Amino acid sequence: MTAIKEPSFRESVDLMFNRAAALMDLPPGLEEKIRVCNATYTVRFGVRLRGQIHTFTGYRSVHSEHMEPVKGGIRYAMAVNQDEVEALAALMTYKCALVEAPFGGSKGGLRIDPRKYEEHELEQITRRFAYELAKRDLINPSQNVPAPDMGTGEREMAWMADQYARMNTTDINARACVTGKPLNAGGISGRVEATGRGIQYALREFFRNPEDVKKAGMSGSLDGKRVIVQGLGNVGYHAAKFLSEEDGSLVVGIIERDGAIYNPEGIDVEAVHQWIVKHGGVNGYPDATHTAEGTAVLEEECDILIPAALEGVINLSNAERIKAPLIIEAANGPVTAGADEVLRKKGTVIIPDMYANAGGVTVSYFEWVKNLSHIRFGRMQRRQEEARHELIVKELERLDRYLGDAWSMSPDFKAKYLKGADELELVRSGLDDTMRIAYQAMSEVWHDRDDVDDLRTAAYIVSIDRVAKSYRAKGL
Ligand code: GLU
Repeated sequence: MTAIKEPSFRESVDLMFNRAAALMDLPPGLEEKIRVCNATYTVRFGVRLRGQIHTFTGYRSVHSEHMEPVKGGIRYAMAVNQDEVEALAALMTYKCALVEAPFGGSKGGLRIDPRKYEEHELEQITRRFAYELAKRDLINPSQNVPAPDMGTGEREMAWMADQYARMNTTDINARACVTGKPLNAGGISGRVEATGRGIQYALREFFRNPEDVKKAGMSGSLDGKRVIVQGLGNVGYHAAKFLSEEDGSLVVGIIERDGAIYNPEGIDVEAVHQWIVKHGGVNGYPDATHTAEGTAVLEEECDILIPAALEGVINLSNAERIKAPLIIEAANGPVTAGADEVLRKKGTVIIPDMYANAGGVTVSYFEWVKNLSHIRFGRMQRRQEEARHELIVKELERLDRYLGDAWSMSPDFKAKYLKGADELELVRSGLDDTMRIAYQAMSEVWHDRDDVDDLRTAAYIVSIDRVAKSYRAKGL
C-alpha cells in the first residue's frame, strides 16, 4: 500500500476537471459554476416487507441544468452514497456534452442489495422510490429522465415508467420519463447492448487512427489483440462478446466478483456468460485457469484492459503494475485521479469513461426521441427505400442478362441491398456515427494542443467548452 492519500471518487472527477479547466480561458466564476453539483435530493422512505417496515435511502443528484431534461442512470448498490451520485452526475454532464446528447447531467442511486429481495418486493421498493422522485419532478420527460445503471435494468425502468404514468394520467409523453425500458413498454431496439456496442465502436475508431494506436505502442487492428475485461455484467459482457465474435480480438482474462479466469489462448465469452448465469460466478469454469485474487489479473499481460465494473479499481495501489498499453474505461471512474497521473507518466493510453461508455446514453437519447415522436424509427421510410432499391436491382439484373458470363451480381448483393434498415440497424448507425464524431472532436484537441497529452483532458476540454457556450448563450 502506498502512503499517498487516494482522493475520493468525487474529488477525482473534480481534479480531472480542474486539470482541463486550467488549460482553458473561462470567464471568472463560470468554471466553478460548471464544476459544482446544482442539487442533490436525499430521500428516506419505508416499505412494509415481510411483516415489518424497512427504511431505504435513495438519492437523485442534478449536476448541471444547462440543458433539460437532465439525464443519467439510477443504480442499486450498497455502496451508493451522496459523494458517488454527485461524481456520477457530473460525469453525465460531460458525457452528454461530448456525444452531443441534448441533456444536462444527473444520477440517482438507492442503497440496497437487490439480490436480497424477491421480484415483487423489488417492485414495491422501486415504485415507492419512483413515486418520491416523480412527485418532485426528478422523474419527468421534460425535466429529469432516469435510465438503468448498476443493479437496475429494463424491469426496473418499466416499473418506474408505469409509476410515473399512474401519477400523470394525462401526460401524453409519459413514456419518455425514463429510458432503457423493455421494447413492449416503449423501449428501443439495441438499448440493452448499447454501452457494450459503444465500447466496440470506440475501439474501432481508435484503431482507425494509426497515429493514436502508435501512441499506445501498438500497431494493426483489433484483430488478434489480447483483451482483459473486469466485470462481465451488461456492459463488460456485450463489449467482450462483440470484440471477440466480430473483431477477432482474443479475450484472455475475465475478472468477476468470485475471482478471475485466464487463458492465453482465448476464452469463449458466451460460454462464460452462460456459466455465470447457471453457477453465479466464474469459479469452476473448465476452459481457463481460476485465480481467487481476481484483481491481480488486472496486472496481467494484455493489449487492451477493459474495466467494466466499479469505480476506483485502478488506483495508487496497482497503477504502477498495470501492463496494458491501452485502457478503455467501460465503467464510470474506474481509474482514480492518482492512478491516472501514474499511468499518464508511463505512457498508457486511456480512452476515458465519459467517451467510452457514452453508448448507453446515446441510445437512451434515441429512445427518448422515439417516445416523444410516438413512432418507431424507420416506420415511414423503410418500404419506400426498399422499393427504390428494387428499381436499381431490376436494372442490374437486366445488365446481368445482357452481359452473360462476362459479369454477374455478387451472390448476396440483392438480398443485402434490398433490405431497408429496421430500427436496430438505424440505432447502430446512429450510435456508430456518434462515437466516431465524438472521438474526432476529442482526438483533435489531443493532437493539436501541445499542453494536452492525454485523451481524458482533451475530452474534458471539449465538454467544458460546450457546457460553457451553452451557459453563455443563456446569458450567464
Ligand atoms: N447509466 C448509464 C450511464 O452511466 C446510462 C445513462 C442514460 O442512459 O441516461 O451512462
